[in-house]
Amino acid sequence: MSNDLELIPFNKVFLTGKEQTYLNSVLSSGNLVADGIYTPKCRSFFSVRYQFENTFLTSSCTAALEMMALLLDIQAGDEIIAPAYTFVSTVNPFILRGARIRFADSLAHSPNIDPEAVAALINAKTKAIIVMHYAGEACDMKRLQAIASDNNIPLLEDAAHAIDSFYEGKPLGSFGQMSAFSFHASKNIVAGEAGLLVLNETKYLERAQVLFEKGTNRKAFSRGEVKAYEWMDIGSSFAASELNAACLMAQLESIEVIQQMRLRNWNHYHTALSALAQKSLFQLPYIDANGQHNAHLYYVVCRSKEERIALSEFLAKRGIETAFHYQALHQSPFYLRTHPYESLPQAERYADCLLRLPVYPDLTQEALDRVVAGIYAFFGQ
Ligand SMILES: *Cc1c(COP(=O)(O)O)cnc(C)c1O
Repeated sequence: MSNDLELIPFNKVFLTGKEQTYLNSVLSSGNLVADGIYTPKCRSFFSVRYQFENTFLTSSCTAALEMMALLLDIQAGDEIIAPAYTFVSTVNPFILRGARIRFADSLAHSPNIDPEAVAALINAKTKAIIVMHYAGEACDMKRLQAIASDNNIPLLEDAAHAIDSFYEGKPLGSFGQMSAFSFHASKNIVAGEAGLLVLNETKYLERAQVLFEKGTNRKAFSRGEVKAYEWMDIGSSFAASELNAACLMAQLESIEVIQQMRLRNWNHYHTALSALAQKSLFQLPYIDANGQHNAHLYYVVCRSKEERIALSEFLAKRGIETAFHYQALHQSPFYLRTHPYESLPQAERYADCLLRLPVYPDLTQEALDRVVAGIYAFFGQ
């Protein structure tokens, strides 16, 4: 990069200023275990803002997904239908239970899962369908819910990207039987590391409380329902610490500001780059009229892998950091060790051609202009 240009990093955590105050209050209270002051505050925020009534604040989104796999009682030989274009945590929790993953392709206009590809994979062994809302843009939930209910198969949402995204006015995470969010430092709302499990079916609640408490009925004990708590079932340590909950609460209180800043950046790119997309130099994110996304990511989908690499290197020379995203999981060394290769052309195209641009909240107007100018310069425009 040229020396006079300040580096524009791909991502930068945005802090509201209240995180330190809340963290200090936990430290000075001396009560560091889960479920102190901030965990209930966070859970009540999710209930008020999104009507998520049955929630578990977990140590990660991955942990919330592991709880889902346990709650569905997934066994060896069961099949789970999942997108190929996603993070490993969408599927690892089911692999840990011995399931086989059947990967579905993405749509041509969006990295999200193709509902018709899901329908084609359903068989007697299918135990769940899990979808992932890429970049906080809603999957086609109307069609996916119909496919799941017609076949009587639970629908799950990996909503790691999707806090404060909506579809037909309802929050993402409220469509599946269960959903999981992430507050990892790379996401919109940051707790360091934490996640949220949302149960939209109360039938899972009682067992979830036991799994969450390392397999004990400690929850019933703390409510005075039993005299001593006992080992009732399998379980693990899934809870987020109070320190992470304190950081999360500070961020949640500023969610409107955080999302507005991201949306401003997202919309700037989308307007500024549309002229190049119209010339078919690349594909831009698809905006579903039924959805309201949270500007988690902005990306362009180049015409080839070579062009994407050249664009990212060109921008890097101008001090602009960009990032590729997922490997298509059906092409991963782990999956190919035990499965034959099957072509999923759209997922492979996103894996090869998608390039993410910086969209973090306090990106300056000058930085946005530099990114756009860099892309125009690359295409000789
Ligand atoms: C970040 C992410 C996860 C995992 O989140 P953690 O909180 O880090 O466990 C899972 N799925 C997707 C799609 C993600 O992007």
